[in-house]
Amino acid sequence: MSDQGLHASVALMRERGLGPEAIRVFEHYYEQLQAGAQGTIPEESIEPLREVQTLREVRVSDEEARAALSKTAVIKLNGGLGTGMGMTGAKSALEVKDGLTFLDIIALQVLALREQWGVELPLVLMNSFRTSDESLKILSKYSDLPVEGLPLDFIQNAEPKLRPDDLMPVKWPDDPELEWCPPGHGDIYVSLVTSGVLDALLEKGIRYAFLSNSDNLGATCDPDVAAWMVERGLPYVAEVCKRTKSDRKGGHLAVRRCDGRIVLRDTAQVAEGDERHFRDVKRHNTFNANNVWIDLEVLRERMTAKEGVLGLPIIVNRKNVDPADPTSPEVIQMESAMGTAIEVFEGSEAILVPRTRFRPVKTTNDLLVIRSDFFSLDESYHVVAAVDGPEPFVDLDSAYRFVPGFEKRFPKGVPSMRDCTSLRVIGDPVFGRNVRCVGDVLIDGYRRVLDDAVLGELPAPTAEPVTTPRRDLRTVDEHLKVILSTLDPAPTESTPLTEALGLVVARDVRAKVNLPHFDNSSMDGYAVQAASLDGADDSPVRLRVVGEVAAGDDPSFSVGPGEAARIMTGARIPEGADAVIAVEDTDGSATGEVECRSSVSPGRYIRPLGEDVASGSVVVSAGEVVGPRTIALLAACGHAEVEVHRRPHVVVLSTGAELVEPGKPLRPGQIHDSNSSMLWAAAVGAGASAEIRSSVGDSDDELLEVLDDVVARADVVITSGGVSMGAYDVVKSALRGEGIDFVRVAMQPGKPQGFGLLTGPGGRRVPIFALPGNPVSSFVSFEVFVRPALRRLMRLTPEKRRLLPATLISGVESFAGRRQFGRAVVSRSAEGTLVAVPVAGQGSHFVADLARANALFVVPEEVTELVAGEVVDVLVLDKEA
Ligand code: AMP
Ligand code: MG
Repeated sequence: MSDQGLHASVALMRERGLGPEAIRVFEHYYEQLQAGAQGTIPEESIEPLREVQTLREVRVSDEEARAALSKTAVIKLNGGLGTGMGMTGAKSALEVKDGLTFLDIIALQVLALREQWGVELPLVLMNSFRTSDESLKILSKYSDLPVEGLPLDFIQNAEPKLRPDDLMPVKWPDDPELEWCPPGHGDIYVSLVTSGVLDALLEKGIRYAFLSNSDNLGATCDPDVAAWMVERGLPYVAEVCKRTKSDRKGGHLAVRRCDGRIVLRDTAQVAEGDERHFRDVKRHNTFNANNVWIDLEVLRERMTAKEGVLGLPIIVNRKNVDPADPTSPEVIQMESAMGTAIEVFEGSEAILVPRTRFRPVKTTNDLLVIRSDFFSLDESYHVVAAVDGPEPFVDLDSAYRFVPGFEKRFPKGVPSMRDCTSLRVIGDPVFGRNVRCVGDVLIDGYRRVLDDAVLGELPAPTAEPVTTPRRDLRTVDEHLKVILSTLDPAPTESTPLTEALGLVVARDVRAKVNLPHFDNSSMDGYAVQAASLDGADDSPVRLRVVGEVAAGDDPSFSVGPGEAARIMTGARIPEGADAVIAVEDTDGSATGEVECRSSVSPGRYIRPLGEDVASGSVVVSAGEVVGPRTIALLAACGHAEVEVHRRPHVVVLSTGAELVEPGKPLRPGQIHDSNSSMLWAAAVGAGASAEIRSSVGDSDDELLEVLDDVVARADVVITSGGVSMGAYDVVKSALRGEGIDFVRVAMQPGKPQGFGLLTGPGGRRVPIFALPGNPVSSFVSFEVFVRPALRRLMRLTPEKRRLLPATLISGVESFAGRRQFGRAVVSRSAEGTLVAVPVAGQGSHFVADLARANALFVVPEEVTELVAGEVVDVLVLDKEA
């Protein structure tokens, strides 16, 4: 690879007016990228962080606190655009609590601290070129805020996005600003220098800075941390919080083996194969809160010594050039993280702070909780919980994901959450005024929530009395209910017509054009003025042929009285003509004169503009399933794509040391893996896309490793085998610790079932079905649980197959207390009723009998025997009955 990309990038940066330090840093990272740097920190190179100071145990006198605060500035990272929440401007301009924006609250927090401690405490924002104006406008309300000799903000640097193949700066003429990105928040150290703010602060006697994200309102400038840092003479302090199971994906600090320095390992820096250690919350038991304290003098000294290049670890980010358009070309963004600077300063420390100092608003779920009465602002504008106990867990459906959709559905404010433990919303109801959530609330399919409604006072579905004393035994219906209530409909996306077959339309589609688009002929014939043919029924009339129009032509001539234009089916009617005479009623002359043997009424054989569809009218409504005819209509109306609920991608995985791929020879004790291909086909048959991940043996580690890899691309994972009571039941033993539930369901076959959510990249939740290994059990489990789940994801109704009554030809027996799904061949009798012949082999290992069957018959829990001639419910499978 040549240096062309580097030269081109640097030239662009100069042209944009970026300073030499910014360019040097860019060159530094570019060279690393060229050398193939991955920016990973292998597990073997680090040790977990131990023995961290706890903030609660720091003892500081008021005098020490005041002295430290008087030398401290608050710097907020404020370049975020909130694209993840569907915003386009500065995220911190969003109204977050009591009518105040993030920035209002930040300003008020700083003003309150100044007043309380009698200190100057400057506030400075690091903005991007896109957030500056809007943010300063909000701060302008606070006339006391600016501090003599200091700006209220400085602008962070920019760098070109690079093409992944040749590392040249990307070109994006549609929106050239999108060719640039900020170099990550690690750029703060460089920008502090290039903007002159570092010198200005030091000149004013400000020696320390507290750096944090503007979307984290818990990050207040705590005088105790400042005083502790001053007292201990620390160059750099990172705040960490106790890590719980749900924080497994955030970055954490660790000690580097080679030199004993503390380093930050972010999600993007995890080496392949280390995912398990990274997620292990016992091993790495704190996470990085991204609240940083830094000694500015040490920073200046380091920056001078290293000519502006701190040498923070590179983070190679792959994104789309237009982040809002996943089909736009992929680019590389070289970034660095603010928190990784910890390794640059000898003697850096971490401090363990309460969770309340880490309260970022990353999603509208976070926004709902913080806006609600679960929190209030105290007199210092700190966000404090109004009630004891854990924060409610909130999971809103995709319609609420972006701020505009969220605001539209909470027009009269968010519900009261003080007494709520969890709120899940499926569907997109609009909430009324004064709604209260109590306990666990699940809203599924409501159209709106009325004013003053109290939600969740009824027991949650899983809390219904279970018919047997065993806590882990569920009925089929209970298990299905648990599964379905956990699933959100798949996100919607604009999809090419040919890939949308079978998917559910997410948004009404309006015609872009009229159909027909113009008046055209429905016959091969002659376009005429109807009046020209008056009397032609009695004696033929001759018209002068003035031209010819084929389909696709745009005729420039017009047809007057006594004239005709030869015209083909689908061709545009020329000006002046108001009817068509079919060629059969003429002598068919192409030139000169045409003899016409019948009269026509005006409009005859003309398909008028807009007769079928008026431009702008709704042609396909949300909820419709895309079929061949829908596709035709959409295409005709000018649409190449349609917004649908995405097709879920299913990854199928079999477990068992005995399994061998079909086609390979068997050694003693081995069998061919038939479940993988069966479940693949069943998933595709249900409308999903699917892939088979080769089977894994019976080791926990291997399974977890494979799942780590699979979860990145799966929307649903299906495993088979390893869920019962055996010694090598790997799925159960490995996944129990990952929060997956293993239960016994009162059914036969298919009693042992596992279900839960895996966490994918970015916290994406991926449902996993751990089905039993016997082929028949696996199949029945798919039909009963997985198919309805896939249909729910795709928003297809009904979710369950319909049961039909059929007459049994021979008797069957069944266990008491279990719902039996037997296999049968169902056909129609001469009288037109359905008859069911149970297959001979009802054991769950009979693959041939399973293949022969075309239906499942269902024997209810309380029935133990059915005799020939009795009626049973059948669930007809893929073959015609
Ligand atoms: P398990 O649930 O792992 O105890 O497996 C139960 C039975 O199903 C055993 O006889 C396995 O050999 C068989 N089995 C498990 N997985 C598969 C598979 N993928 N294909 C065919 N048979 C399987
Ligand atoms: Mg097994």
